[in-house]
Formats: sequence, structure tokens, C-alpha cells
Amino acid sequence: MALRDEVLKAVDAASAELIELAKRIHANPEVAFQEVKASQWLSETLERHGFGVQRGVAELPTAFRAEVNGSAAGPSIAFLAEYDALPEIGHACGHNLICTAALGAGIGLAAVRAKVPGKVLVLGTPAEEGGGGKVLMLQRGAFAGIDAALMFHPASYTLTARPSLASWRLKVKFLGKAAHAAAAPEEGINALDAMVQMFVNIGLLRQQLREDVRVHGIITYGGAAPNIIPDRAEATFSVRAADSPHAKEVLERVINCGRAAATATGATLEADAKKGYDAIKPNRRLADAFAGHLETLGWPVDAPPERNRMGSTDMGDVSQQMPAIHPYLTIGRDIVGHTVEFRAAALTEQGFAAMLTAAKAMALTGLDVLTKPAFLEEVRADFAPAR
Ligand SMILES: [Zn+2]
Repeated sequence: MALRDEVLKAVDAASAELIELAKRIHANPEVAFQEVKASQWLSETLERHGFGVQRGVAELPTAFRAEVNGSAAGPSIAFLAEYDALPEIGHACGHNLICTAALGAGIGLAAVRAKVPGKVLVLGTPAEEGGGGKVLMLQRGAFAGIDAALMFHPASYTLTARPSLASWRLKVKFLGKAAHAAAAPEEGINALDAMVQMFVNIGLLRQQLREDVRVHGIITYGGAAPNIIPDRAEATFSVRAADSPHAKEVLERVINCGRAAATATGATLEADAKKGYDAIKPNRRLADAFAGHLETLGWPVDAPPERNRMGSTDMGDVSQQMPAIHPYLTIGRDIVGHTVEFRAAALTEQGFAAMLTAAKAMALTGLDVLTKPAFLEEVRADFAPAR
């Protein structure tokens, strides 16, 4: 039997188990860094299929690194599993399908390990929805030695090389002076006024911002009572752009909106910026190979949209450090992530079909990486073009 057919047969053989696991994880949503059950169930399944699993890697209790060796030394391919849910709304981003697809790809490719060189890994990467498990794992060496990293994300469309936005998180605090709002307002410094002014400044700044830029925020504290001039106001913002350097530039301008508001009102500004996620740099060669495999599996790829609608993901950080792809397969048309409709779609036959097809296409792309040195050279050249 051809290697390709053996890989596909192994994914099919595991499909009932993968669907059952996707259902169980969907029914037991766990938020960032608390994915105790999911990481345990995924690790156990990988062990049953011959993987050696290291739990709690990178000092993260719910992260894991599973691997099997091929017939000889060679490249290492990693399939990435996300399994965190959203607070309150549960698996409304379909990560129950992401992790089971990664397992399916790993199990499928591991089935031919006696005949191919290299190493097959499945990495359990917690806290994509907040906390950035992959960023911490990168910093702490859990991605060491990996030649290419692949994952899939459910969506309303099928696209193989869609980028994402680089992001910054900004916490803002204005400090003023409390006073009786009726009896002695002139004694006060109104921190909430400063905050409102900052939002107004950002609103005006917005018309000079690039089309890919996003600035959005909420006020998390705005005072204690209407008859007290607020001496404190707090907000959290997200600042995003298509590339990291530009996101940083916009961040600085947003903080300036706060500085101006502080000057105008006499309040004091405290701004605390933290880097969010990097933008995804899709590896063209890997994306093309993945798309080709999808086509042979009878899963059509959509035409690229005229306008990209994007969020941010910690897969962006991975893709800046090694060849990587973060393709999307449709689990239902006209649905949007982080909604109850999307959560329902992550538990349908269409959802499971996307998961299994993604598993197969990832396994076959992994097979290309392990068995075709010329292909791997092209992948590397696309990641770091010769100057
Ligand atoms: Zn997601």
C-alpha cells in the first residue's frame, strides 16, 4: 500500500475515537490554563497510539509534547492542538475540533513511522483565547527542533493562507481627585472625564488610521457614585494592525491620546502596554501543499476574499519563528466565531467532517515534509527568502 493510503486509512480507523473525544471536550469546556480534563484525555489517546507524552511542558500544567520517532534521523513535523474554551459561552471557537484534528494528523502520520525518517509531534498548546500558551512555550523552548508547525481552525470558509493581525493590549488608568460633585465640584479632578476624552481623541485619530488597524476598548471602572467626582477611571484597549511594527506605532499614538486627555483634565495617566500576538506569516509552500491535499480529498478551497476579516492568534508568534500554516475549513456558512451558533456548529456532522479532513490534509502535508527533501527546502526558502 502506498504511504499516502496507509496514512489516510489510519485516520479513518481512528475517526470514531476522535469524534467521541471532540464531543466530550465540547461538553466539558475549560478556559485558558485550566484545560485539565482535555489535556489529560488528549495525552492518554496519544499514548494509546504509541506516542511518548511529556505532560506539563514549559512549566504549563496543561501543555504537553507528544512524539514518536521515524525510521531514521530527519525533519520534525508538529501538529498543534488548542483545547481551551471561552468564558461562559464554552467551545464557541471550536477548539474541540482543532485538538482532535491535530491528534488525527499525528496518529495518521505515526502509522507509517517505520517507513519514514524524522519525528512526528503533537503539541498541546493551552490558552489561545487569552494567555498565549504558544508564546510561553516558544520562549521556554517547547518548540525546539521543529521544522514545520501545522494546525487547522474551524471557520465559515475554507482558506489555506489567511493572515492575522498583530496585537497589543493596553491597560489605562487615570487618577484624579475626589470631591462632592454638587457641593464642591471645583475641588475635584475628574478621572472619568479624562477617560471619556481619551475615547474621543481615539475616535478622531481613527480617521487617519490605516485600513488594517483596529483600536477597541472598554471602560472597566468609571467611578463609585454620581455624586462623587471620580478619582479613578480604568479601561482596557486592544490595538491591532497587519504587522507588528505598525501596531507598535499606533499603540504609541493611542497612548498619546491618553496623555493629551491627562493634560486637558489635570488627571494623571498610567499606561501599561503588553505585547499581544504577532501576525501570522503563512508559509506559501506548506499552504499550497495543504490546499492540494484538500482538493484530492474532495474538499474545495474558497477563493480568497476581497477584504480579509481577521482576528489575532498566538499561532502568529509561532509562524514568525518557523514555517507554519493556520488554514481554515468551513464548519457551516454564515456563522461567526465566539457565538452560540458557532458553538453549535462545532458539534455537527459538518464540523466532524472538517476536523477529519483537516487531519488527513495535515498528515499528508507532514508526509511531504518528512519524505521530500526538495519540498522542505522550498518551505524553508519561503520562510527565509535568500537575499
Ligand atoms: Zn480560536
